[in-house]
Amino acid sequence: MSLAAEPFGALPDGSPVLRYTLSRPGGLTLRVLTYGGIVQSLQVPDTRGQVANVVLGFASLGGYLAATDAYFGALVGRFANRIAGGRFSLDDKSYVVDVNAAGNCLHGGRTGFDKRLWRAEAFSDHELRLSLTSADGDQGFPGRLSVEVTYRLLESGVRIGYRASTDAPTVVNLTNHTYFNLAGEGSGSVETHTLVIDADQFTPVGCALIPTGEVALVAGTPLDLRTETAIGARVRDPHRQLLAARGYDHNYVLRGTGFRRSARLADPATGRVVEVLTDQPGLQVYSANFLDGSHVGTGGRAYRQGDGLALETQHFPDSPNHPAFPSTVLRPGQLFASSTIWQFHTE
Ligand code: BGC
Repeated sequence: MSLAAEPFGALPDGSPVLRYTLSRPGGLTLRVLTYGGIVQSLQVPDTRGQVANVVLGFASLGGYLAATDAYFGALVGRFANRIAGGRFSLDDKSYVVDVNAAGNCLHGGRTGFDKRLWRAEAFSDHELRLSLTSADGDQGFPGRLSVEVTYRLLESGVRIGYRASTDAPTVVNLTNHTYFNLAGEGSGSVETHTLVIDADQFTPVGCALIPTGEVALVAGTPLDLRTETAIGARVRDPHRQLLAARGYDHNYVLRGTGFRRSARLADPATGRVVEVLTDQPGLQVYSANFLDGSHVGTGGRAYRQGDGLALETQHFPDSPNHPAFPSTVLRPGQLFASSTIWQFHTE
């Protein structure tokens, strides 16, 4: 096993960005940037041992700096997903956070954690520890937040561990925004991939993808992915929820609690499978509806709508405005700790 760092360009202010490579002989190779904590590449063998990069991204830093709204592979915070109107109250105080998506706060605001330079430390030959401090008032959020994310290379998977603490009451929702294409990034649509989501319910959205507050059953809707279903099978159903989001872009209420499986994505052509395990209550399933052919990916091919699938383990969108949703409040003295595993195999 090995872990090595190399330069990966510089930010406009001259700060150098590093790319860390974690690899296991005959197994996975994971490449992570100190910019945005981005998973830049993840090479995974198929049934015949053929290796492909199964995550969307760019070959150079310029691509990431230009694609400010697609969050390719990035760590997302302070608050993944949307906060309606960029407003919430906590302990009777009102807060206004940065609005960057149709009048709402998306993925922590304009300068979220995906656009920060993280401190990096090789923790062992298979574990990279990234950290940052988000100042009190960063993007409008209260409290000075210390965040640590570790990427650990497993036998045949990747574990992402999140930890955060604050010096004043705040709200936190952290995730990683990797888009998977198990046939290899740039190979086209993932509509023939099959998907299982371990959820009986979802949180329906209204305009601008803000949850209505309802928790609805997936049964009888094209959002029912409880049994293996090709992504393309029902993505064109004229269901209100799919039309509002241009496809799948919904938070699923995961079944059960504790560390458990949340999703299984498989590509019948290559036999590659990824299972996503998490301790989080929700999973945002996003079928890359807004990719429009304007970004040229790592391998030199443009990414179009549906060319990847993001499986974002997280708390429910807009939780600070929905007391009935699991709480995203973090108080001084508490530690936010969570982990997600992407477990790969072939079939
Ligand atoms: C959201 C989408 C958003 C996308 C941006 C996803 O997490 O659910 O609505 O457009 O991130 O890449």
